[in-house]
Amino acid sequence: MAPATATVAKPAKESRPLPTPNSDFYEVYETLNAEELATVKRVRTFMETTVSPLVTKYWVDDAFPFELLPAVKELGIGGIGMQGYGCAGGSLAQLGFVLMEMARIDPSFATFMGVHDGLAMGSIYIDGSEEQKQKWLPPMASFEKIGCFGLTEPLVGSGVSGGMMTTAKRAGDTWILNGEKRWIGNAPWCDVSIVWARDVADDQVKGFIVENKTTPGFSVEKIEHKIALKIVQNGHITLKDVRLPEANRLQGGNSFRDTAKVLKMTRYAVAWMATGCAMGAYEAALKYAQERMQFNRPIGSFQLIQDLLAKMIANITASQCLIVRQAQLHAEGKLTDAHAALAKAFCTAKCRETVAWARELLGGNGIVADYKVARFFADCEALYSYEGTYQMQNLIVGKAVTGLSAFV
Ligand SMILES: Cc1cc2nc3c(=O)[nH]c(=O)nc-3n(C[C@H](O)[C@H](O)[C@H](O)COP(=O)(O)OP(=O)(O)OC[C@H]3O[C@@H](n4cnc5c(N)ncnc54)[C@H](O)[C@@H]3O)c2cc1C
Repeated sequence: MAPATATVAKPAKESRPLPTPNSDFYEVYETLNAEELATVKRVRTFMETTVSPLVTKYWVDDAFPFELLPAVKELGIGGIGMQGYGCAGGSLAQLGFVLMEMARIDPSFATFMGVHDGLAMGSIYIDGSEEQKQKWLPPMASFEKIGCFGLTEPLVGSGVSGGMMTTAKRAGDTWILNGEKRWIGNAPWCDVSIVWARDVADDQVKGFIVENKTTPGFSVEKIEHKIALKIVQNGHITLKDVRLPEANRLQGGNSFRDTAKVLKMTRYAVAWMATGCAMGAYEAALKYAQERMQFNRPIGSFQLIQDLLAKMIANITASQCLIVRQAQLHAEGKLTDAHAALAKAFCTAKCRETVAWARELLGGNGIVADYKVARFFADCEALYSYEGTYQMQNLIVGKAVTGLSAFV
C-alpha cells in the first residue's frame, strides 16, 4: 500500500526523486477486498496523522494518551473480527492488517488494542455464555468499558497453565478469589479484568469477569520503569478475598484448554503486530538512509547500508507472507495452536533482527527516541516475550512436529 504521506528526498548528485519508503514489497495489501482495504486505510491515516505526532512524548513520559480514546471510538474497529454484540465484524485478515498498521506507527497502541480487544473481549467472545456476551461485549466494542486480561503471576509466567497459584473457591453462588497477577496491560486504569484462577475443588483453571473499580479486595499497582511499550500501563493486581457471583464466571472456560483458545487468537495477532513494528522501523531507517549524508553521499548509496535494508525488507516480506497465509488457514477453519505459535515466534524473532539493523543504520541517532527507531527497537523486546516467550512457542511447534511433548 502506498504511504499516505509522501516524503521525497533528493541526494546531492541525483535529479530523479527517490522512492518513498514502502514496506509492502510483495503487495500483500492487495489480498484485501475493497471494504477491508478502506478500513485499513482509515486506520493508517489515523495512526499517521493523529497518533504519530504525539507518540514519542507519551512514550518518553511513560503515559497513556487518553486524549486519543474518543477518536479511537470513531474508527469503528471495536471487536473487529468478531460477529454480533455491537462488534465491528469482518475477517481475521482485516483484524491482522489493522493491528499491523497500528504497530507500524506505535507497537504500544497496537498492544493496548490487542489486550482490550483480543484478550479481554476475546475471552468473553470465546469462553462466555450468550448472556455474558450480550452484557459485556457491546460496551467494550464501543470502548465505553476497557478491558484487561490477568493470566501471568509474579512467581509463574511460562508455567502458568500447570502452576497457577491464584485460587478460586466456590461458596454457594459466590466465588472467592485470592492471589496476584503481574504484567497486566491496561490494568491500572481499565474497567473490566478477565482474571484466571485455579478452582480449588477440581484444580482446573477458570476465568472470571471482575469490575476493577467497584469490586472490594481488588487492587492494582502500576509497574514502573519499563523500557518497552512504555505507553501501555501494566499493572500488578492483588486479589484479597474478592467475591464474585457465579454469573461472573466465564461459563465456557472450564480448564486451561479454554484459556488456550484465547491465546491462540492473540498469538495470531502478535505476529501481525511484530511485522508492523518491523515495518515502522524499516521505513524510518530507509528514509534516514536516503537523507543522511556522509562522505558527500547519502548513506543509502553505500553497499553495506543497502545490504542492511535488503535484509530488513526480506524479513518483513517473509513475515507478511506467513501471516497472510495464517489468516487464510483461520478462514479455512484450519488454524492450529502450533500454526499461531510458529507465526508468533518467527515474526517476533525476525522483528527483533530487523529493528536492530534499523537502529544500527541510524548510528548514534538510533538510540534517540525522537528518531522513532529506538522506540521500535525497545518495544520489540516486549513483543518477543509476552503472549508466551519464543521458547514456549517453539515448544508448542516442537510438540506438533515430533508428536512428543517437551513441556516439563
Ligand atoms: C510488556 C508486557 C506486557 C504483558 N502483558 C500481559 C497481560 O496483559 N496479561 C498477562 O497475563 N500477562 C502479560 N505479560 C506477561 C507475559 O506473558 C510473560 O512475561 C511471559 O509469558 C513470560 O513469563 P515470565 O516473564 O514470568 O518469564 P519466565 O516464565 O520466568 O521465563 C524466563 C525465561 O525462561 C524461559 N523458560 C521458562 N520455562 C522454560 C522451559 N520450560 N524451557 C525453556 N525455556 C524456558 C523463558 O522462555 C524466558 O526466556 C506481559 C509481559 C510484558 C513484558
